[in-house]
Parts: sequence; C-alpha cells; structure tokens
Amino acid sequence: ISVDSAAGLAVKAADRAHVFHSWSAQALIDPLAVAGAEGSYFWDYEGNRFLDFSSQLVNTNIGHQHPKVVAAIQEQAAKLCTFAPAFAVDVRSEAARLIAERTPGDLDKIFFTNGGAEANENAIRMARLHTGRQKVMSTYRSYHGATANAIALTGDPRRWANETGVSGIVHFWGPYAYRSSFHAENEAQECERALAHLEATIAFEGPQTVAAIILETVVGTAGILVPPAGYLAGVREICDRHGIVFILDEVMAGFGRTGEWFAADHWDVVPDLLTFAKGVNSGYVPLGGVAISGAIAETFAQRPFPGGLTYSGHPLACASAVATVNAMAEEGIVENAKRLGEDVIGPGLRELAERHPVIGEVRGLGVFWALELVKDRATREALTPYNAAGAAAAPMGELAAACKQRGLWPFVNMNRLHVVPPCNSSEAEVKEGLAILDEVLTLADAHTV
Ligand code: PLP
Repeated sequence: ISVDSAAGLAVKAADRAHVFHSWSAQALIDPLAVAGAEGSYFWDYEGNRFLDFSSQLVNTNIGHQHPKVVAAIQEQAAKLCTFAPAFAVDVRSEAARLIAERTPGDLDKIFFTNGGAEANENAIRMARLHTGRQKVMSTYRSYHGATANAIALTGDPRRWANETGVSGIVHFWGPYAYRSSFHAENEAQECERALAHLEATIAFEGPQTVAAIILETVVGTAGILVPPAGYLAGVREICDRHGIVFILDEVMAGFGRTGEWFAADHWDVVPDLLTFAKGVNSGYVPLGGVAISGAIAETFAQRPFPGGLTYSGHPLACASAVATVNAMAEEGIVENAKRLGEDVIGPGLRELAERHPVIGEVRGLGVFWALELVKDRATREALTPYNAAGAAAAPMGELAAACKQRGLWPFVNMNRLHVVPPCNSSEAEVKEGLAILDEVLTLADAHTV
C-alpha cells in the first residue's frame, strides 16, 4: 500500500465541495478517502488498511475486486455496454436463468431493477395489481429502502421524515425473543404470539384490504433477527388463507449471506415474490430484482405490467451477476459462509460474550451476526437508547472509532455491532477481526453496571 497524502486530500476536498451524501447533515461528515480494495480489505491514502467487517453496506459478499467478476465486466464492456430492456440480450437471459434456478419454489421469472428499494417498489406494485387491494403490511423492525413506498414500509427512524403522501402502509411487530413485544418467555411462545398478533392486526385492518405482507427473511440492519422456527411458515399460511401476497425481502439476506443461497431455504418457505439486490453481484454494478411466482406472472400474461426502468437488466450488471453466481458456485462460497458461521463466528462471538458483560445477546447465522450491547445484562437496558444521538450515542461511536484505529471497519446500528464480513472471508481474517473486537469490547464493558 503506497502513501499519497496529497492525492487523498484532493479526493476529500472535491468530495466536500461537490458530493452530497446519503442520510447525512452535509457539514457534519468527514468521509474517509479510499484508495483501493481487494478481497476482505480496503485502504486509504495514508497507508491505513482496514479489514471490512461490514462488507460495505453488507453487499460485497464475494469481497472486493473478485478477478472473475472484474474480467466479466471488462469483457461485457468491450462487447455491449448497454441495451434497452425490451430486447432479449444473452447476459440478461443467462442472469435471469441462474437466479431463477436458485430462488425457491416456482419463483421462475425475474424483473430486474437497479437496486433493493426499486425491487420492493415493484414487488408492491405487482402485489397491488394482482390482488386489486391497496394495503401493505411490514414490521416495525425493518429496512426496505429509500424510495417512496419502500421507506414508508421501513420500520426504523429513517421513515419518520419520509411518510408524506404514501398511504396504505400498516406496521406490526415481528418476533424478537430478546425484547419480546408479547411478554413471551421462549421462542415457541414468541412465534405463536407474534402470529396471533399478525392475525389480529389483519382482522382489524380488514383482510380483503390487504394486498401484501413484506418481511425481511432475516431482519438485517434493524438487528439480525432470525425468525423462530415456524414463524415464516405461519405467515405463509395466514397469507394463503386471506389471499394476501407474501413478499420476502432478501436484499441483504440473499445470495449466501446466511449460509444458503436464500435465507428462505433455512425454513423451506416459498414466498410469492422475493426481492434481491446487494449480493446478487456484490454491488460491482448496481442491480436488484424481483423473483416472481407462476401465479403472479400469469396476472401479467395478457395484461401489461405497468412498470419499467431504462436500465432494467443492464448488460454490465447482468454480466457481473452471471460471473458472481458462477464464482460463488465454483468456489463453494455459500458453503464457506455457512461453515464460518457454525465453526468460527458463532463460537467466537459466544466466547466473547463469556468475557464481556456488555454483550447482551449474540445472534445470527452464516456471515450475518449481531452483538446486542447492554448496560445491564439483568434488565437488558440497551447500551444506548433507541435512536440515540449526540452524547447518548457516544458509547457506540467510541466503539466504532476504536475498531477503526485497530484496522477493523465495523457495522454499527443503534446499540448493536453487526459482524457481517464477506461470504468468502478466510478463517484467519475472521479470527483477526474477532481478536480486535475482543480488545474494543473491553472499552465498552466500562459502561456496564
Ligand atoms: N431491503 C433491505 C433488507 C436492505 O437491507 C436494503 C439496503 O440496505 C434495501 C432493501 C434497499 O436496497 P437499496 O439501497 O439497494 O435500494
């Protein structure tokens, strides 16, 4: 890694002058100027290297600069950079085939988008037209994207400033045994009561008004909440009984993250629509999509689907998806994620929990884990209050800064530290990251009672 402080300063200066950043007060941010990346690492212009334990935004499932994917993009660029969605294009056909072969059940048709929010937006459009109903239900602990319907469905504070003008969205509580909304004492109770709560909410909304229920198969940003056994099957049954479209958002959980191609595979549940993005090509070129069941595809067999995007099925994006899916299959990357979760990350984090009282709960699977941090294990009082800012959020800010000082790039949300490295991380890389967490958690332990 070379040091070039002047170049870094120039990149930073132009950024601060002209780049308007997501989710930020523009004058209060200080983005790191990144000079390069490879595999599980990236580095800045000052010679600092970081182990990427966040996979950027939990999307670089095959790490940075995978040579097979880079080559596929280069070859496609030389051959055909772009072509309108109305045409049949070889890489678009092949990407759709490879994805449809892996999605569960009869989700055999793929509508391509540029990312996750647009995938959810179009899934909702399909569900509303398919059912002739308006309402869509989602959970309070969720993130579905930043476009109009997707942010209105989202169950975190980012929704609050974005609700104007969107109607027909109903929120309910999903299962979360550690902080049960249902006073449940175990997972089985949590599952049963969460399903009863959903059923009651539907009854009071009017089942005939509900077009769809959308869930993250495993809730990502809002906490890595793994559903209890039976919950997704229960939601499937409720949807079937009321003619409601069941949408699983696998934007973050899909493509190997949980140690299966899709998280739904863990519970053998087949939704009517499954949305994806991120891991489909590790974000090398923007891509997302909706995998569509036979019945919903049939709705639009004779009647036009009233939605589209100039870049739906963009050839460069599709070429990178083909190369990514093939590389993941050839290199056993999904199996690697599963093994890392079972043999390295899960046991490693549980061992940390034995030494660090600040860890209230360890949960996850594959390369999709959270440490929920608390002030007090007995009361489960969160280390920082919900949606804390400023001084109240300081303990998590300090923790993130301490990780970065030691060369680890963390994923932090509220009072949680998520451990979400690439699916093809090596055991040594994961252990390097866990050793750094062990050090920094000692600092956080100081905030416990
Ligand atoms: N759905 C989930 C579960 C996500 O995690 C995200 C992004 O983090 C989205 C949807 C939105 O995807 P995008 O940012 O590509 O629009």
